[in-house]
Amino acid sequence: MKRTRNKAAGTIDLYGRYVVPSYGRSPLVVVRGKGSWVWDDRGRRYLDFFPGYAVSGLGHCHPRVVAAVRKQAGTLLHLPNIYYIPLQARLAELIVEHAFPGKCFFCNSGAEANEGMIKLARKYSFDKYGKGRGTILTLNNSFHGRTSATLAATGQDFYHQYFFPFPDGFRHADADMESIQSVSGHDVCAVMVELVQGEGGVLPLQRDFVHALAVLCAERDWLLLVDEVQTGVGRTGSLFVFQQYGILPDVVSFAKGIGGGLPLGGFLANERCRKVLSPGTHASTFGGNPICTAAALAVLDILDEDMLAAVKEKGNYLRRAISDMGSPYVAGVRGMGLMIGISIRGISNKELAGLLVKEGLLCLTAGQDMLRLLPPLTITKAELDEGLEIMRRVMLPEGQMAFGYEGV
Ligand code: PLP
Repeated sequence: MKRTRNKAAGTIDLYGRYVVPSYGRSPLVVVRGKGSWVWDDRGRRYLDFFPGYAVSGLGHCHPRVVAAVRKQAGTLLHLPNIYYIPLQARLAELIVEHAFPGKCFFCNSGAEANEGMIKLARKYSFDKYGKGRGTILTLNNSFHGRTSATLAATGQDFYHQYFFPFPDGFRHADADMESIQSVSGHDVCAVMVELVQGEGGVLPLQRDFVHALAVLCAERDWLLLVDEVQTGVGRTGSLFVFQQYGILPDVVSFAKGIGGGLPLGGFLANERCRKVLSPGTHASTFGGNPICTAAALAVLDILDEDMLAAVKEKGNYLRRAISDMGSPYVAGVRGMGLMIGISIRGISNKELAGLLVKEGLLCLTAGQDMLRLLPPLTITKAELDEGLEIMRRVMLPEGQMAFGYEGV
């Protein structure tokens, strides 16, 4: 196909004409990334405190991920899942070894991974109990994706607009046992939770609640589905955050960071689910293809114990520094590892994010009043300090800078 080339039109102009406007975009044309940094089309660099929504968890273009992808690109780009893909087998083995005994399914994204979990839970129940037990309980304030089913699963009214009819089979509860009991019933087959709600405002669930929920699931033979699309792959300082909660889910979904920048998602289901998705019941054309699994193997190879320990340390450092900054805009700081939420007052979170971008720091918003930071797990102390310096410039009133946080 011959490429039309309208040299006068810039990227933003072309977007205005040809790309569906479903995203609220910053006026930033990013052309290159390396480690914790990206560069725009004018050569200005920005410190990226949420590389690709946590997709580039090891920073942009990690050299070992790039090398693995380059090597695989010259060997085999794609293979359908009706054949055996050696790298996919190795990746599944690695995830099982570091999580819990079971089997992996691979797909392309977080929503697709959660769709797979939902299907698996319903079929697990159908195989055992027959029809009428397909309801999945999820939590208010959760976020599980943008497909019709994962929107219905998401416990926020904002996402339940326009696209009617949404699929049935989800009920929402608050993160306490009384609320869970009030929506439970004979039609329930599973509970799906994010242990740290990301998009909803970086809210870690209470440990006691999570334990009580796991007990209830075991008693009722409900599957405990944990959505680790955002929390997984080292983000909170362990491969999966459930490992810090001391519970064992029946199924855990993952995506984002696993592909090191390439589209890969999936779930790991425990032994009791191993026969549920029999041939022909579930599939994904690109899922776990050789390129993405080569990248994921490099990611997991890099993510060792030392790195996970450093994620916790760097997270503590960043959270403490933000709290101690004394900014009138900061009402509180929370999170786990390098998944950090700053509760904002006195200015809208979107406006503040915009001011930070202008000063060269990229960050995200969450919920109504949160700034969300998901810095690369590989970020250095010096880069964290650079980010903190930008935050001080923007978030402290003039004159207070000199008395600002001095570091630990
Ligand atoms: N689940 C959680 C917890 C997420 O944070 C997201 C995306 O932000 C998703 C699911 C959806 O993932 P994707 O955008 O890859 O479909």
